[in-house]
Amino acid sequence: MAIALIVAAGSGERLGANRPKAFVELAGRPLLQWSVDVLRDVVGMEEIVIAVPPETQAPLCVTGVDGGAIALSVGTQASIGVTVVSGGAVRSESVRLALAAAGGGREEDLVLVHDAARPLVTKELAESVIAALDGDASLDGAIAAAPIADTVKRVQDGVVSETLDRSSLWAVQTPQVFRRAVLERALDVSDEVLAQATDDAWLVERAGGKVAVVRALSENLKVTTGQDLRLAEMLLSARTA
Ligand code: C5P
Repeated sequence: MAIALIVAAGSGERLGANRPKAFVELAGRPLLQWSVDVLRDVVGMEEIVIAVPPETQAPLCVTGVDGGAIALSVGTQASIGVTVVSGGAVRSESVRLALAAAGGGREEDLVLVHDAARPLVTKELAESVIAALDGDASLDGAIAAAPIADTVKRVQDGVVSETLDRSSLWAVQTPQVFRRAVLERALDVSDEVLAQATDDAWLVERAGGKVAVVRALSENLKVTTGQDLRLAEMLLSARTA
């Protein structure tokens, strides 16, 4: 069985919106709603825990500075429990708080972590990442990633110091799926280490874990800027047309 943790507690400052990024409207729904709607249909999904900004009011409604309230619809499918928690100061703290709020606690449960900022996630991708981990007992985690198309160089003080071998470089996304006990141990670190983590797999890797990569489309982009938002809107509108 699987649990999904959706981290949506970022402020989204780079988007320049008047409300937290998760509640910005995208192709007719709050950005976070797209991930909730996909993940609750994933086969074997039992529970979803969402980490939202502390200022978000229950039941999942946020008021923008323009006074407009954005409501998120969560519990339409009775078989899936949805819990909402206040997120932390950094992303991994939000993951830790969401995991602590997840029920069950069976060691063999799989935990899928997903950034609300990736609204183009699909049911097929989430199920492929779960299947990769489920099908190989030697693995501690499986993560969605896409091979890098650009050449990547290390730059110091504006000057190239190294050209990296592109053939072995992948751009890492979410969903990332781990065995529950593995993720709990990986998150049991100091606040300094937690603040350094830009994804959950790094925490598992530094604890010696083996993590497999599942090929994803670069279309599963992370919405950071207004341009990303417009691109995501185009892709989602094409999908639902
Ligand atoms: O900031 P970044 O782009 O890494 O955020 C990735 C995801 O982590 C976003 O969905 C964001 O809402 C979430 N996040 C969070 N808590 C934080 C910071 C980011 O849940 N303190």
